[in-house]
Amino acid sequence: MLTVPTRPAAPEEPGGYHRYHLNTQPAPPIVPLPDRFLVKVKRPILAWHIIADFVEFKGNWNVTSDRPCVYGVLDSPLGGMMARPHLCVACLRCTMQNPELIQIHHNPDHQHLGDSYFTSEYFAHVAYQAETGRIPVKGAGYRGKFGGEGWDGMWTDMSEIVRPTRDGIHGREFISTAIDIGAKPGYLRFNGDGTVAAKPPRVITTQVPFLFDLPPIAHRTPELMQILGAAAAAAQTLAIVPLPVMQAAGLSGAHLAPLVKPGDRLDVPGAAPHMVELDGWDPALYDAVTARFPEALVALRLPADTAGAALLDYAKQGVRVFHIAGDYHGRASDGRFMREVIRAVHGAFVDARLRDEITLLGSGGIAAAEHVAKAIICGLDAAALDIPLLVALDARFRGECIAPGAGALVMPPDIPHDWGVQRLINLTASWHDQLLEVLGAMGLRDVRRLRGELGRAMFQEDLEREAFGGIAGYDDQR
Ligand code: SF4
Repeated sequence: MLTVPTRPAAPEEPGGYHRYHLNTQPAPPIVPLPDRFLVKVKRPILAWHIIADFVEFKGNWNVTSDRPCVYGVLDSPLGGMMARPHLCVACLRCTMQNPELIQIHHNPDHQHLGDSYFTSEYFAHVAYQAETGRIPVKGAGYRGKFGGEGWDGMWTDMSEIVRPTRDGIHGREFISTAIDIGAKPGYLRFNGDGTVAAKPPRVITTQVPFLFDLPPIAHRTPELMQILGAAAAAAQTLAIVPLPVMQAAGLSGAHLAPLVKPGDRLDVPGAAPHMVELDGWDPALYDAVTARFPEALVALRLPADTAGAALLDYAKQGVRVFHIAGDYHGRASDGRFMREVIRAVHGAFVDARLRDEITLLGSGGIAAAEHVAKAIICGLDAAALDIPLLVALDARFRGECIAPGAGALVMPPDIPHDWGVQRLINLTASWHDQLLEVLGAMGLRDVRRLRGELGRAMFQEDLEREAFGGIAGYDDQR
C-alpha cells in the first residue's frame, strides 16, 4: 500500500507515525471581500441622541457614547458617526432599539460575489476558511432554508445518543479521514508456496477524502498548478494536473496525478506517478498508459451522464478507479444532479457485486465541506474539488461558472506561491475538521464507513412522500 507523500518522520516519532495535522496560519485575502452588510446611520439624529444623552447623564461620556451593539460596529472613537460595517452580523438589535437612527441592509456587492449555484454564502464561508483555517461557526443557529435543490434536499442524520461518545475535532479520540484509492480485490489467490498468485493490488492512501481537481481551462497555468501541487503534498492528497502542463512546467511529485488525453506524449518529469487519470475511455490509450507506467493506478474520468452499464463494461476490462465529473453546478448533461448520479453509479456497482473492488471519485457541485460528506454517503469514496480551491485563491465570478471552458472566473494576477499554498492548507484543515464533526456526530470513527451509508441520511423527497403521499394536491404535482 502506498501513502501519498508525507512529511519526513520526526525523530521523536519512532516508526515514523504521526497523527494527521495541518499547520494553519492566518492568510488574509489579497483583495478584501466587500462587507456583508451596509450600516446606514442617520447622523443628524445620532447627533441629537448624543446631545440629549450628554445632558441627561450629566456629561458622562462613557454612557453618552455607548451605542447598542455588542459587536463593536458603533464603538469607534466617533461612535456611530464612523460605523465599522465589517463587524456587523445583522443581529438587528440596533434597529430594534433605535429604528429611527440606524438601518441594516444587505450589501449588493457582497451578494454578487458568487453565481446562482456557488452563492455568496458559500463564497464567504470558503474565503473565511481559507483565511483562518477555522470552521465558520456563528452560534446564532441556522437561519437558512430547510430544504431545496441539490445537496440542500438531503440531510445527514446526527445522533443525539452517540454524539457525546465521539470527540470530533478535539483530538481526544482519533477519527480517521483517510481513504484508499485503487483496486481492492475481494479475495487473493495463493501459489502452493504461499506467495500471492497474481500481481498484488495497488492502493494509494490519501489523508482526506478529497482530491484537488483541474481548474477551468483558462487557469491551468504552471504557477497555479504548482500551488495546487504543493498544497496537495502538504495535505497528503492528490492534485490532478494535465500532462502537457506537467511537462511544460517540469512539475513532478507523487502527489500529482497527470490527466492524459489521446495524443499526449507519455513522459513525466521525475519519478513515475502513483496515479494517472485517462480523460475518457480509449482502449489503446489505456493499454499504452498501463504499459508505460506499470506501477501506477489508472483512473478513468468520465462525464457524469455515463450509463452504469458502460462503467461495468470498463470495470470488466480492468479499470478499478472511476472519476465521474459533473459540471461546476453539479449537473450531468442529462440534467440530473450529482446526488442522483452518484447513487445510480454506486448502486450499479453494488448490484454487480463489484462495489468493494473499485474506487469511485466524483467532482462537480462541491461547494462546502458538508457536500463532501453527503457525496460520500451517496456512494463516493472521495470527492474532487474545483471551484472552492479557486475561491480560496481569491478568484472572482463574472457571471455563471458552469463549464471548464467558460471564462466566468477571474484569478488575481501573480498569486504569491506561499500565500496560495497556505490558503489551500487552511481550507483543507477546515474541511477536515468539519468532516470530523460530521463523523463524530454520527458515531463513526472512519470515513470509509460512511461510503454508501444511506441510512445516515434523509432525503427531502422521501420525507415529503411519506408525509403527504395520498393527499390531493401533493399527488397531483408528482
Ligand atoms: S445589526 Fe447587530 S451587529 Fe449590526 S450594527 Fe446593529 S447591533 Fe451591531
